[in-house]
This record gives sequence, C-alpha cells and structure tokens, in this order.
Amino acid sequence: MPLHLYNTLSGQIEELTPRTGRPLGIYACGPTVYDYGHIGNFRTFVHVDILRRFLKLQGTPLRHVMNITDVDDKIMTRAAAAGQSIDEYTAKYKTAFLEDLSALGIELPEFLARATEHIPQMVGLIEKLVERGCAYRGENGSYYFRIASFPGYGKLSKKDLGGMEDGARVDVDEYDKDSARDFALWKAAKPGEFHWETSLGAGRPGWHIECSAMATEYLGEDFDLHTGGEDLMFPHHENEIAQSESASGKTFARHWMHIRFLLVEGKKMSKSLGNFYTLRDLLLRGYKSSAIRFLLTSVPYRNQLNFTFDGLTESTNAVERLRSFVERLHKGGFPAGRNISLFEATERAGRNFTAALEDDLNTAEARAAIFELVRLANSHADRHELQTENVPPILDVLARFDAVFAVLEDRDDGVTRLALDWAAMENRLNEAAPELVAGYALSAEAIDRLIEERNAARKARDFARADAIRKDLAEKGIVLEDSPGGVRWRRK
Ligand code: AMP
Ligand code: ZN
Repeated sequence: MPLHLYNTLSGQIEELTPRTGRPLGIYACGPTVYDYGHIGNFRTFVHVDILRRFLKLQGTPLRHVMNITDVDDKIMTRAAAAGQSIDEYTAKYKTAFLEDLSALGIELPEFLARATEHIPQMVGLIEKLVERGCAYRGENGSYYFRIASFPGYGKLSKKDLGGMEDGARVDVDEYDKDSARDFALWKAAKPGEFHWETSLGAGRPGWHIECSAMATEYLGEDFDLHTGGEDLMFPHHENEIAQSESASGKTFARHWMHIRFLLVEGKKMSKSLGNFYTLRDLLLRGYKSSAIRFLLTSVPYRNQLNFTFDGLTESTNAVERLRSFVERLHKGGFPAGRNISLFEATERAGRNFTAALEDDLNTAEARAAIFELVRLANSHADRHELQTENVPPILDVLARFDAVFAVLEDRDDGVTRLALDWAAMENRLNEAAPELVAGYALSAEAIDRLIEERNAARKARDFARADAIRKDLAEKGIVLEDSPGGVRWRRK
C-alpha cells in the first residue's frame, strides 16, 4: 500500500504518490537562521525526515527542497545590533543548523535553498503579480499582495476571513495571527538599511515570497507536497498559495503536511517561562542525540508532543534496549534451526511496522510493533527458543526500522562536540550549496590528519610548518589546545 497522509488542504487522509514519471516533489519550510534551533523546530524537521526516509524505503524517488531563511526582519535587527552584515550574522547559525541536523541523524534534502541566493526569482515573481493586478506598489516603495484579488484566500487554514479589511497592510514578518491583511512582498529599504538594488527598487523580500519563489525554482509551479509546523499554516502558507496560484493559475502544492507543536511540561516553550531548550542545551546536559531524536518521534506528528525530562530518560533507555538487543543477536550462541512461532511473529512485526507508517505516519504504532518483537524475541532467547535461522529475519526488520528511525548506530559522541558527518555532508552540499561549506568544511578526519601532520612537523623541529597548520586551522574556526594528553581541538 502506498503512504497515506493527512492533507490539511482537503481535510482528509489521502494517498501520497508522485505524478507519473517524476520524483515526488517536497518543499519543506526550513529554519530562519537567527539563532540556534530549538527542540520544537527539530520535532518538525525530524518528522519530515521520517517521512523522507520512509518514502525512500518504499522506493519512491524524491526531489526534496528545504529553504534556509537567511534574511528577514529578525535577522536584520539582530545583525544590525551585532554590528555585522546579515551574511556574517547568519553564517554561524547556518552552520550550527547543519551540524544539528547531522547530530540528529536528519538526512539532507536534495536541495538546500538559501533565500539570499534567490532574490532575482523573487523579484520576477513579484513583477508577474503586479502585471496580473494582484500586487501593488505602496507610496513608500514597498510592494504588497492584494488579498481581495484571490478568492481562494483562507482555503488551507479554513479561516473565516469575513472581517478582512481590503487594502489594510502589514510590513513585518511577524503577524497578528488572526487577521488577514495585504502583506508585504517587497520591503523598500529605509535609509542605511541593508538592501538589494533591483528593478523593484532598493529593498528586501518579504518572508512569504521567498518560499513561493524557491519552491517554484526547484519543483515547478505545481508540485506534490509542502510541509511545515502547524504555526506556518496561517498566514505563511496561506500567503504562499495566494502568491503562487495568482501568478501561475495552477494549484501550488497538492498536499500539505503540518506538524503539531512540541510543548514542554505541558506548556508552550518560551524563554520567559524558562522552559526553552535548543538541541545544544540538551546535548550539553549530557543527553544523547539518538535519545532526543527518538523522543521526538514518540508521538505521531498530528498530535502535540509533550516534552519532559522523564520522557527523555525513557527514550534513552529505549534506545539502549534496542541496541543491546541487536548486540545479543550478533553475539549468537543460539541453537540451530528455526522457531516457527517467532518466525511468524517477526513477519507480523515487519508488516505492522510498515502498515503503521503507511497509515498517516503513525510513528507510535510503528515503534510499538518493533518493541513487541524485541520483547518476544528476548523472552524466546531467554528460554533458548530463539534459533539461528530466526536471526536474519529479525535483523532485517530492525534494519527497516532503522532506515526510518535511525537510532541504532551509536554516533552519540555529541556532548562536547557535535557528531559531525562532514565528509558525507560536504559532497552533498558542494552540489547543492557550495557557499555553505566554504570555511566550515573540515571534517573531523581532516582535522585529525592535520593535527598529526603538525605533530610530525614539531617532532622534526619544523616549527614554521607546525605554526602554519595551527594558523590555517584557526582561520577555519578550529582551535587547538595542547594538553599533557596530546592535542585536542574544538570548533570555535
Ligand atoms: P522557524 O525557524 O521559526 O522558521 O521554524 C522552523 C520550523 O519549526 C517551522 O516549520 C516551524 O513551524 C517549526 N516549529 C517552531 N516551533 C515549533 C514547536 N514548538 N514545535 C514544533 N515545530 C515548531
Ligand atoms: Zn516557508
């Protein structure tokens, strides 16, 4: 059976299949890189990763795009306050985001699209909207979308927009969540403000147009699936639909997936409540990235997840239980032959696992199928009833489980330095976004190699060479610390 997924647009669970002959096109709203990602953000990204991995497991070819919003009001304000250009300001958080994805075992999409690299596409789209009478220039030089020109406005969020004021505008990206107003497509620069010189004048794009332009650039005017957290449904996604469909006359995304929010101890996560956690906060407290990832999948994406530290401890134990079970299987020492009832239970677990995910990505049921198998197999093994021929099919089911959940492999060295898989990431990124890599691309292996080279140079009393290596690493943000136990490094 193909995957069935709830579609916010139709309000129904529908089959998700690509159009014939094409990979499945997915546009995932990515992070705004003004700060480190928090665990709520990663709940959304982990579920999109579960979706991605499950589709791949089912053999669906993908064309998955994630944007990185590296220009918006918050970024402008914070960069100005820090006395930095927006590029300087966001570079650190872009890198951190990629490191966090890697630490959480989140696969990179086929394309990572940075907003600042797509300004011409945004300008082109706005010009098209002006030509069609759906957008207008305000007296300050900003451009706005005319909501009254799009009768379908509200079809995604099912909002009653009766109180909508024609011509009322908003300039900022942070919206009064309940009101629909003509929204800014292009914001004219105020004196001294960072801007691009374009045919629309000096300014910068609004947030919504970024996603419309980048989705169209990589996936075309109509594509299969658009994802994001539930807060993006209105106005962000509603505005994307209005812009894109007004320009193209086609249905923008056929299918919309919205991930419900993560709460902390039953409350909305917020800095003022002191219950706000970035991924790094948890890693620094000694929690493992695998346990965090696993916890984030414990509740299906259409229900809120209540994050607690007890839950995180449970998750840690659950991952441990799975790993020691795999170890037990590899260790062997089982009697020869095949236990039929366990064999059948294994097949059943495999079927239930797949069926749960096909049913609107029910991660909780999928996990339950696996834990049931582990419990059963362990108790068979305790009674010497797990036999040699039972091992391969069980490992096979676990491999399918881990192709999606990605927690079995122990890559939890993430406490003080995040688990980086730069070597793999570099290749992918070099294709998708070479600029993202420049300056940060040194893999752990490459760093270790350079350190060895430096040690050898020092031994040979070639201090000029040793210093040059240290300096080169420092320029790439790698700090070396000489200690009695040898040389240690960390990223600045
Ligand atoms: P942002 O960086 O704020 O643009 O958010 C990145 C993604 O995280 C978006 O898809 C948001 O909808 C999502 N998101 C933000 N807060 C939460 C939360 N508490 N739980 C789940 N997803 C969230
Ligand atoms: Zn978006």
